[in-house]
Amino acid sequence: MDLTAYIRDVPDFPKPGILFKDITPMLQEPAAFREAVDLLADLLDGRQVDALMLVEARGFIFGAALAYRLGIPLVPLRKEDRLPAATHRVTYSLEYGDDVMEMHKDGVAPGSRVVVVDDVLATGGTLAAACRLVEEAGAEVEALAVVIELTELSGRDLLKGYDILTILEY
Ligand code: AMP
Repeated sequence: MDLTAYIRDVPDFPKPGILFKDITPMLQEPAAFREAVDLLADLLDGRQVDALMLVEARGFIFGAALAYRLGIPLVPLRKEDRLPAATHRVTYSLEYGDDVMEMHKDGVAPGSRVVVVDDVLATGGTLAAACRLVEEAGAEVEALAVVIELTELSGRDLLKGYDILTILEY
């Protein structure tokens, strides 16, 4: 199946100059969504994965299905002030502005191996921030798993030393 047929390009969203990769068409076609989740699961085959850390909001969609399929815990990485218990927090830059993310302090166990899941790798700022939170909790980043990598934005340069697993590259 050509999964690129289920990614919609939306120019100038949310700001002029940004070409937004919209994954909602993939969510409307169950076979495409299943294939994307299955491909992510295949990429993790043979790795030790103790938990998935899911980036709000679209990382929740793919990551929850992946956690269900793999039978492993998931930890939500949320925007500022959404989580009710004690958190670790980090400030980071997006392709389109600054933001704060938080995770519960007890979200991942020290020494555990965590895979961070999101829909798109753009500049890498979000995933780099997620890695900092994993490490602040005393856990290790096993890999970063994303559906789409925007290679022209060179997000990998910010993420040196981490294994980056992607299913579609633009
Ligand atoms: P970055 O931190 O620049 O790698 O941006 C990644 C985060 O922003 C992800 O959570 C994406 O969902 C979102 N994002 C950034 N750029 C785009 C884009 N061009 N299309 C879709 N989502 C994007």
